[in-house]
Amino acid sequence: MSEVRVTKEENCSGCRLCALACSFFISPERAFSLSKSQIRVARTDGENRFKVGLLEDCLGCGICVDYCHYGVLSKE
Ligand code: SF4
Ligand code: SF4
Repeated sequence: MSEVRVTKEENCSGCRLCALACSFFISPERAFSLSKSQIRVARTDGENRFKVGLLEDCLGCGICVDYCHYGVLSKE
């Protein structure tokens, strides 16, 4: 199975399109929900930078990669 990696975290804008797309496409009810996503984006305290992390149950489908317009994520 392929794997998604966070390769350019410094480029993240914090838009969370990746997380919204993930939740929509992996949830049976087809709903946008940040809490149901397998990718998490969090602002670094006091800075305009973001930490991006994939959760344990990530499917490696790569949908989040397609929706990130800043080249933060890659699929191998
Ligand atoms: S990883 Fe990409 S899509 Fe996700 S919040 Fe950052 S810039 Fe947006
Ligand atoms: S690879 Fe698929 S399951 Fe994993 S975070 Fe991205 S969209 Fe979600």
